[in-house]
Amino acid sequence: MTHIVHRNLREAPPVAASGRGIWLRDASGHEVIDGSGGAAVACLGHGHPHVVAAMKAQIERLCYAHTALFTAESAERLADMLVGHAPGGLTHAYFVSSGSEGMEAALKIARQWAIESGQPQRTKFIARRQSYHGNTLGALAAGGNAMRRAPYAPILSDAFSHVSPCYAYRDRRDGESDADYVARLAAELEAEFQRLGPGNVIAFCAETIVGATLGCVTAVPGYFRAVREICDRHGALLILDEVMSGMGRSGTLHAWEQEGISPDIQVIAKGLGGGYQPIGGILVHGRVIEALTRGSGTFKHGHTYQAHPVACAAALAVQEVIRDEKLLDNVKAMGALLEQGLHERLGNHAHVGDIRGRGLFWAVELVKDRASKATFDPALAVNERVKKEAFARGLACYPMGGTIDGRHGDHVILAPPYVCTAEEIA
Ligand code: PLP
Repeated sequence: MTHIVHRNLREAPPVAASGRGIWLRDASGHEVIDGSGGAAVACLGHGHPHVVAAMKAQIERLCYAHTALFTAESAERLADMLVGHAPGGLTHAYFVSSGSEGMEAALKIARQWAIESGQPQRTKFIARRQSYHGNTLGALAAGGNAMRRAPYAPILSDAFSHVSPCYAYRDRRDGESDADYVARLAAELEAEFQRLGPGNVIAFCAETIVGATLGCVTAVPGYFRAVREICDRHGALLILDEVMSGMGRSGTLHAWEQEGISPDIQVIAKGLGGGYQPIGGILVHGRVIEALTRGSGTFKHGHTYQAHPVACAAALAVQEVIRDEKLLDNVKAMGALLEQGLHERLGNHAHVGDIRGRGLFWAVELVKDRASKATFDPALAVNERVKKEAFARGLACYPMGGTIDGRHGDHVILAPPYVCTAEEIA
């Protein structure tokens, strides 16, 4: 008998008893490799001594002080580390407790930017189908995952509309070049700006690499440059959601670094704190902050636990480890091994349609038939079965499935900790 509302109300999961490095152990003693860091969260694995020590020191010194009265040294140092050097013009950070809260903050600061830069008529957001931006109502409205939205559709804001994602495996036409595919998607986005009235759009929102909804889908080269150009031409902001793909997961600290552009607002979470504490946030371009500073002088938003001292101390320590242990190099090297291994062992499997990803962020799309790319009957719950079988064999992975845009898809995400070794990848 459990009193927790678990994800599955009919079956409680095993109790996680301990974690060490890339391993997790349940209360019965069964050990599994944390092969996807939960949901691409545990970037340092479990029990990293530097993070544990930093959290302990912070807890002993100060657990909490309300941000209406105080700032915390750990929060200031974390912000300095992330945006002190203004990567891509991002100069300010705002810390919250999850990816969804980060997305809410991004949407609200963007709307406030519109008002305070003298453009109150900007009230619309464009996002993409087959995207996930979180489960709170604003983030869910931004998201384009039909399955997750369906029960709540009547209570979601209509400020959001959706265009196609860049999903070459299924949506690129036969014989279409990268440039032609980008041009087709750019034309669709441009048409949506025109339909809404280009001066009415606050921002375009996208995951730099699509995570849970499609499984590690990178854009074709040139896509984000085209998107950035359209936003700039219409004076709209670009919000990139790197909750899953950011903070080193892709092999660079920010996934946008590999796209030749930078966003106006970036949402971060999972790899920020590596699961040691609940923490997310936004990194914000100087021009957005300037508009608010010149205008009302306040961000009209706030949470009791924003910039929590212990969460910030944990995230600061996680980021120090990534820097000091040069883990981005390991992400690239181990990512190449993982890619090679997946192709060698699964590349010819009758039910593997696509293997894709970047850094240590890889997905396998499962299909009924490789040639036609036909998907499995949802009633088979292939992803659930993969999860159970893998777990029994010692691997925790992150399979997803569901009806997306009227079609079912199954994929498995592998996102091992950045500290993993070649032996562990094998
Ligand atoms: N955005 C993306 C891209 C995500 O993958 C997620 C979570 O999986 C979220 C937002 C929401 O983050 P959280 O579950 O921490 O609220």
